[in-house]
Amino acid sequence: MNYRANVIVSSCLTGIKCNYMAQGKPRPPVLSFVSTRQLPPKAVDRLRSADLIRGDLISSSVLFKPAVQNGWVPLKDVEFDPVLVCPEQMGGLPTPRVPSEIIKMPGSPSPTDFDLAEWGSGWSLVNQENKDVTGNFLSGALMALQIARMYDAKLAIFKAKSPSCGFGLVANGKFDETLIPGYGVTAHLFASSGIFVMPDSDLI
Ligand code: SF4
Repeated sequence: MNYRANVIVSSCLTGIKCNYMAQGKPRPPVLSFVSTRQLPPKAVDRLRSADLIRGDLISSSVLFKPAVQNGWVPLKDVEFDPVLVCPEQMGGLPTPRVPSEIIKMPGSPSPTDFDLAEWGSGWSLVNQENKDVTGNFLSGALMALQIARMYDAKLAIFKAKSPSCGFGLVANGKFDETLIPGYGVTAHLFASSGIFVMPDSDLI
């Protein structure tokens, strides 16, 4: 392989037992990605719709430390390396843990006018025992972003519906299993920082 791209992945999607019930949520496309180092076909479709893949070429903007930012390289020449994170554990929450939901979130991710201080004040999360866990979720998200930057990762595969990793749909904050449009804290921070986020539900 001539090129490399690092991809941040929710640890639970690979079977690591890190979710609130101390269980993993292994997904076949993610397991196959981890073993082959090639993107799942539906991820390729997502990148194609975002104009990051054209024909058999992929934008160099998703590569690890690309020499050229606006170039294109053959997709078959890229090895995609997974970098596993669990933002809730990284934010200091125990495993197993009391489930948490989002009470308040900022608007949709917007890399163009992103302001970290303003972004952080836009969140409020509580666990099912009504304990404020906002600080844990924010610090876990920031730590995950630090790792993404350290690995120069421009892509992420995240667990759908999670208050950290969810993208597009999350629980409504009432612990009644209702989903509403929205984003998990880490997924929102990643997308606001210009990282292309793909929920696992889109890869099946
Ligand atoms: S924070 Fe993300 S990686 Fe960790 S258990 Fe929840 S969904 Fe999985």
